[in-house]
Amino acid sequence: MNYFIRALREAAKSWPLLAAALLCSAGVAALWGANIAALFPIIEVTLKGDSLQSWNERRILEAQGRITEATAAIPVLEKTLADGALDPDTAKKTRNRLDTIKLSLRGDQAVVYSGERLTPWIDRFLPRDPFQTVLLVVAFVVISTFVKHVMLMGSTLLVSWVAMTISRNIRLKVFDKALALDRAQFMKWGSAGFMAQVTSTSDMLAGGITAVYGGAVTEPLKILTCLGFAFMVSWQLTLACLTLAPLVGFLMVWLNRRIRNVSKNILARSKGFHHVLLEALNNVLTVQAYTMEGFERQRFRTCTGDMMRTGMWHSFYHALANPITEILGIGMVATSIAVGAWLVINQQTKIFGITMTDQPMTVPGVMIFFGFLIGASDPVRKLSGVITGLNIGMVGAQALYPLLDTPSKLTEALHPRPVPSPHREIRLEGVSFSYDGIDTVLRDVNVSIGFGERVAIVGPNGGGKSTLVNVICRFYDPTTGRVLLDGVPLTEVAVHDLRRRIAMVTQQTELFNESIHYNIRYGRWDATDEEIEAAARQAYAHEFISEFPEGYRTMVGPNGFRLSGGQRQRIALARAFLRNAEILVLDEATSQIDVDSERLIHAALSAYVANRTVIMITHRASTLALADSIIEVDHGVVTKRLVQKQQAA
Ligand code: ADP
Repeated sequence: MNYFIRALREAAKSWPLLAAALLCSAGVAALWGANIAALFPIIEVTLKGDSLQSWNERRILEAQGRITEATAAIPVLEKTLADGALDPDTAKKTRNRLDTIKLSLRGDQAVVYSGERLTPWIDRFLPRDPFQTVLLVVAFVVISTFVKHVMLMGSTLLVSWVAMTISRNIRLKVFDKALALDRAQFMKWGSAGFMAQVTSTSDMLAGGITAVYGGAVTEPLKILTCLGFAFMVSWQLTLACLTLAPLVGFLMVWLNRRIRNVSKNILARSKGFHHVLLEALNNVLTVQAYTMEGFERQRFRTCTGDMMRTGMWHSFYHALANPITEILGIGMVATSIAVGAWLVINQQTKIFGITMTDQPMTVPGVMIFFGFLIGASDPVRKLSGVITGLNIGMVGAQALYPLLDTPSKLTEALHPRPVPSPHREIRLEGVSFSYDGIDTVLRDVNVSIGFGERVAIVGPNGGGKSTLVNVICRFYDPTTGRVLLDGVPLTEVAVHDLRRRIAMVTQQTELFNESIHYNIRYGRWDATDEEIEAAARQAYAHEFISEFPEGYRTMVGPNGFRLSGGQRQRIALARAFLRNAEILVLDEATSQIDVDSERLIHAALSAYVANRTVIMITHRASTLALADSIIEVDHGVVTKRLVQKQQAA
């Protein structure tokens, strides 16, 4: 609930729009009641062929007549009672009669008071002719219905706008989080987790907010307006009609608990669904190569089937909310019909000894009372949808906010320290690292890499080479020890400052589904076309790019699938060259490039690497030839040795 309140508070920042929406809602509710109230004069006038003026005058006269009678009767009855000559039974009856007369007197006085106040208004604005009065009331109903719908549309659009803005803001935040989180935390949620959050969860939360600001105010307002009018007719009768309310309230609480549980289930399944979908589509080649289509199809069928079953339960409970609230609505109307009819037919004011009305009810009086109750029962029904929406929103908020609140383990220094550019040295002091807190991947590493040095990192698979590079680039912080850039711990250097010094090419090249030009330019967005071409030439990519009919504008396809592995690597290299960074990290960056091209790239590299630090993870002897020193990583143990220059030559 707390999380949902937070979401509501965030939505409340758009308060001018919400206030306008609420104003529209209040107008809708008032007109809702007023439309029903307007029926009263129609019924009065058409049934009796009367005009409102004469109806009002007659009402005042009748009330005045009753007041005169009552004022005369009260002292007589009081005197009779005061004499004390009556037997207890008659005395009780007389006292009851006296009470009833006094109650009626008060009611009549109210009728006279309100009638007299109404007279000038009715005289001024309403015609005397009964038919014209009906026409006027009908016109009022039509116009007010039109205004009501304009307001309703206004309120719906305003609330939708706020809800969509919120939904978009949430999506932006989830996306920002995905980009800002450190790798370990990112992997915990996974792409599927983020996808589910960006799609379903955001929608759930936005739906909840719309329900609250759209209906949680309008519908109760409508109910209150109608019940308020009904109270004015007879508060006792209104209360009598609400006897079913506690039972319905109890059922609604139970139902909401079920809906919340089902919504949580849907969320969990949505994550699984995205997971299966993304995996199968991202690895579609493997799926096809190993003829596992049937298996994947089954997996997808199972998870969509699960979703469907949970969705059906959701629909069931959602649908159940309608009859439950309808019970309250129909119960109210049925009670009022039964009680009202009894009072009218028997011309009574009491039922089971409880006074229901000040005076015996008239047929139009009962009808208008029914009207108000029917008017209240429709929003009661709609309220069930609002409550369901609210519950779903609460579940959405509960799933979303913990993710948004997850802090990145890579904390930004409050007061980042400057490091000269270019730096002089990268030093690892007593660095140990473990991904899971159990297996130590790097053990007490102490190495230093000077600026301009070309370092080759070698060692067996799984030895910890990539981990070492990840720690140097601060994708992870060491478990113990520290990494220093010119004596400043990386934790005290702004992450952005560190990353802008690094250009990286990994074994799994990541390309965007855009043009080659776009992908190279990604290294430095303000680069000119000439610089992009120069970088491509350095990476020996220009030749094959020029052979494409569309040259640099050739689209590479999702993750560059239209290119060969070697071509992809060359584009990634060009991107890194374009960045012109002071630290170049190559993680098996030429592994898929043919030997001849690689030789040429190395020639380019040896020119390029002057005046920058190059860290290369490699198994290839040809790459080793470029290195000034070799760092060997074996089962987390790191040793560094210099390469004899003659050997390198
Ligand atoms: P290399 O690059 O030398 O092949 P890595 O640095 O990639 O080796 O991996 C070193 C060890 O750390 C391996 O045993 C690997 O299983 C483990 N490892 C790598 N990445 C992760 C990760 N994200 N979570 C948990 N363990 C990992």
